[in-house]
Amino acid sequence: MNCDDVKNDLYFYIKNDIDLPTKKGIEEHIEKCSVCKELLNEFSKTLRVVDKCYVKVPSKNWDYFAEKTMNKIHVKRIYGFLRPTIGFMACVLIFAFSYRYYQLQKLQTITYVPSTEETVSYLVDFDIPELNE
Ligand SMILES: [Zn+2]
Repeated sequence: MNCDDVKNDLYFYIKNDIDLPTKKGIEEHIEKCSVCKELLNEFSKTLRVVDKCYVKVPSKNWDYFAEKTMNKIHVKRIYGFLRPTIGFMACVLIFAFSYRYYQLQKLQTITYVPSTEETVSYLVDFDIPELNE
């Protein structure tokens, strides 16, 4: 195995995605070749960083995204349920208030007993055609 072979298979060697004879060949070469040993060190370091970034960032973003989406769905569900309820409550309240107002008005009309003078003056002011002739 020469340096180029090692370079070609180095990624798979680090990833441990390689057949045993090739792995053995790379290990044997690296024992003797300091250039490839250094390359392996650098390459595995780089891959570790890249892997960390690759795994970390999307998973974090995905969690964040999923959480946000679920929150939105949850909030939507709450509002979806609340909106008709609030509408219904508003209708009930408006009805209750107007009914109460109506009842109060009715009560005032009923309890309003005009005095005799008022009734007399009302009747006197009332234009009765038969009496005028
Ligand atoms: Zn080499």
